[in-house]
Amino acid sequence: MSDLAGRQVTVAGLGVSGVPAARALRGLGASVTVVNGGDGEAQRAQAAELEPLGITVRLGDGETLPKGTELIVTTPGWKPTSPLFLAAAEANVPIWGDVELAWRLRGEDAPPWLAVTGTNGKTTTVRMLAAILEAAGLRTAAVGNIGVSLLDIVLGDEPYDVLAVELSSYQLHWAPSLRVHSGAVLNLAPDHLDWHGSMAAYAADKGRIYEGNQVACVYNVADPATEDLVRAADVEEGCRAIGFTLGTPGPSQLGVVENILVDRAFVADRQKQAQELAEVSDVNPPAPHNIANALAAAALARSFGVPPKAVRDGLRAFRPDPHRVEHVADVDGVAYIDDSKATNTHAAEASLGAYEHIVWIAGGLAKGATFDELVLTAAERLRGVVLIGADRALIREALARHAADVPVVDLDRTDTGAMAAAVREAARLARPGDTVLMAPACASMDMFINYNKRGDAFAAAVRDLASGRVPDD
Ligand code: ADP
Repeated sequence: MSDLAGRQVTVAGLGVSGVPAARALRGLGASVTVVNGGDGEAQRAQAAELEPLGITVRLGDGETLPKGTELIVTTPGWKPTSPLFLAAAEANVPIWGDVELAWRLRGEDAPPWLAVTGTNGKTTTVRMLAAILEAAGLRTAAVGNIGVSLLDIVLGDEPYDVLAVELSSYQLHWAPSLRVHSGAVLNLAPDHLDWHGSMAAYAADKGRIYEGNQVACVYNVADPATEDLVRAADVEEGCRAIGFTLGTPGPSQLGVVENILVDRAFVADRQKQAQELAEVSDVNPPAPHNIANALAAAALARSFGVPPKAVRDGLRAFRPDPHRVEHVADVDGVAYIDDSKATNTHAAEASLGAYEHIVWIAGGLAKGATFDELVLTAAERLRGVVLIGADRALIREALARHAADVPVVDLDRTDTGAMAAAVREAARLARPGDTVLMAPACASMDMFINYNKRGDAFAAAVRDLASGRVPDD
């Protein structure tokens, strides 16, 4: 279905991906209906934006398949088990995500895609990759799940040499014909299982990023499940499996030797066994999980022929996005770190592993997670814990099981002001040289609109503390 003119297309969902999709489809001459379960003020405003373009918007019913639908284009929030999709399957109507649509609509001379997925580190790695590609003088866009619509880029006028694409497991699920230049799965840990149904289904969707890869499938040596996905994928002839490791790299791997990032996979000079790329201190911040991200970004860039110097220059130019292990301030010899983006245990484990003596602020929406493993790995380094949020009891119980000596303050609160109270309590528990780390291991929506707002609340409270005020809730 490459020509969409005159076709009846139903878009499932409004919002940041549904609205651009509906617009693009209409622009291509399709007859478009958007269905959306919610019918609040925000949805009505979006409908008012679309209707003048000749798009039908049906609010308050996201379940019934509109008559005559030939194709569904879905936004990420919709579960595969949604009644709308079951009806579509019954009627043999194909379902594409926004990425599938963008992939099919890209032009003949479209730039290659270097794609990144994984449970954690996607945005960081894509930004590092884009910085490296730019340092190589390539016209690059960082797109996809990062918050820039692929459709806008694919249908826009701006010319690019290459795209650095972040893909979520949802987007991969609905992108059956995607075939990228090179793809990476950074890591795999349980997340979003309520959407995918099982860990196996989640992993299989992540693994779709390798299907049909042309040049390289980049995997994490420390996470064998990622290598298993490479082995299971059907790739183009000549496509190589490239590993990244924090240890000494084997052949066809990138790794670290004496604080230098080295490449043993794409060495142009036959006299050489390895190519030096950058120093560990060029990575910002040089925490282990972030060095892994840098190696993955370097592997993708090298698979596209980027020279070593550009890897180093790009990594030096890279600045992390806010709320990802972000240093907010030092107060009375205590460092305050905002890792609000640690919305699952795997991410929190990475940042808890980066510090010695920690007062940990944790809690929020657990999304079905368990905390025993996380608490076990972090127990030795915990000076104290302050708990907030709806599912804090799960963390409290894990602490009681595995770290009974660690002082715990359970604030028993889910209001936004609780963050200021948490910072006050954390300051009381911390000693000079310690780190107060807000890495909640949970989603934020029980207390805040999103993780940005949670991080902002933490930073505001820390700034109060730094200026001598008592954080006020
Ligand atoms: P994503 O886009 O996959 O959500 P981000 O780069 O935004 O990833 O980082 C999300 C969270 O995961 C942050 O808390 C960050 O500190 C943590 N993180 C980043 N890279 C990794 C990694 N390679 N392994 C584990 N955690 C990571």
